[in-house]
Amino acid sequence: MSKEIKSYYDNFFQNRLEDLHKEGRYRVFADLERKVGNFPKATYRDGGTSREVTIWCSNDYLGMGQNEKVLKASCDAINSCGSGAGGTRNISGTTHYHVLLEESLADLHNKEAGLLFTSGYISNEAALSTLAKLLPDCAIFSDELNHASMIHGIKGSSSEKYIFRHNDVAHLEKLLSSVERCRPKIIAFESIYSMDGDIAPIKEICDLAEKYGAMTYIDEVHAVGMYGKRGGGIAEERGLMDRIDIIEGTLGKAFGVVGGYITGKKAMIDVVRSYASSFIFTTSLPPAVLAGALASVEHLKQSQIERMQHKERANKTKACLKAAGIPVIDNPSHIVPIMIGDPRLCKQASDLLMDKHDIYVQPINYPTVPRGTERLRITPSPLHSDADIEHLKNSICAVWEELNLSFDIDKNEDYRDNIVRIA
Ligand SMILES: *Cc1c(COP(=O)(O)O)cnc(C)c1O
Repeated sequence: MSKEIKSYYDNFFQNRLEDLHKEGRYRVFADLERKVGNFPKATYRDGGTSREVTIWCSNDYLGMGQNEKVLKASCDAINSCGSGAGGTRNISGTTHYHVLLEESLADLHNKEAGLLFTSGYISNEAALSTLAKLLPDCAIFSDELNHASMIHGIKGSSSEKYIFRHNDVAHLEKLLSSVERCRPKIIAFESIYSMDGDIAPIKEICDLAEKYGAMTYIDEVHAVGMYGKRGGGIAEERGLMDRIDIIEGTLGKAFGVVGGYITGKKAMIDVVRSYASSFIFTTSLPPAVLAGALASVEHLKQSQIERMQHKERANKTKACLKAAGIPVIDNPSHIVPIMIGDPRLCKQASDLLMDKHDIYVQPINYPTVPRGTERLRITPSPLHSDADIEHLKNSICAVWEELNLSFDIDKNEDYRDNIVRIA
């Protein structure tokens, strides 16, 4: 290859990175080391120095990542069965832990069957692309704020897609009624939208699905383990699980481990198992992960204490920040979003919290959220103390003053009208 061509590639990639820097959304990962028994504190390393910080943006919502039962189950499994699963599910990589965990997850959602994937992302991508591709002439109806993994699956199916305005059932109905009655349809949506913390009108969507003969697909990633009497999610809490055809979840957030899954009717699950490329052609999850996840799921089916403490901490954090005039976006869930609306300011606020106050809250920028809605997303856990909350409030106030950010909550109310809509 000639020298000019080589430098073409180097320059090209360098320029793409420059674009991100210019927009203020170049991503910098925080180098963290969590210590069992010490969460939400962690050691943060930066340019040769290290210090203790408080994590305020983890999706290990309940601290199950350091739960004793979970750790013991994982250690036992690794000691008795070794490290890797040793193959794809089809070729020697199905362990007894897979069987037990899939049964446990089907039971959690009161479904006939469950299927594990290496992540929640893959579960959405695999299930949506496979089901919509197989159904003849399928039309998919997708909430405009659906997660990237669902969008990936929908694109992969090459089916015709209709994007409805966020949580807007009137718009969904308009789109449903525009499609021939006889065509197969899937409505894909989330229960809790993790960046705003708002919740879908699940019952109304199920009513429409029934009226127009559509299947329902819900992503309960931010709700499993957290809501419902057994941690089955918002659909369980609202008594709607039996009206949803496919419930998808993750083992990586409230369950504190890693992996994803779907649950539903036997034949439908068997079809995804049999046809989905990203399920079939990859090494399956290892025993230690599965045993830990099983312990976590089973524990949270029984135990209410983590959910109760978590709710109390989330409410306390919101009330404390609001009382100080910090513009928290109201929502009915555990998520505490604080709108900034500018990628540079968002990054600066996050940097100041870390550098001056030892608080770690990652800036949330495009493409995780639409442009113009850049924000801090705070996630309280049962392990954040009163002193942690107080320190968070004081630190955010100091940063808001230093950067001259708005304390005006009304300014945020209709922020969604101002966003640049993404198709
Ligand atoms: C995190 C997330 C996923 C992906 O789950 P992973 O297990 O992290 O891959 C899927 N959907 C939503 C809404 C998410 O926030």
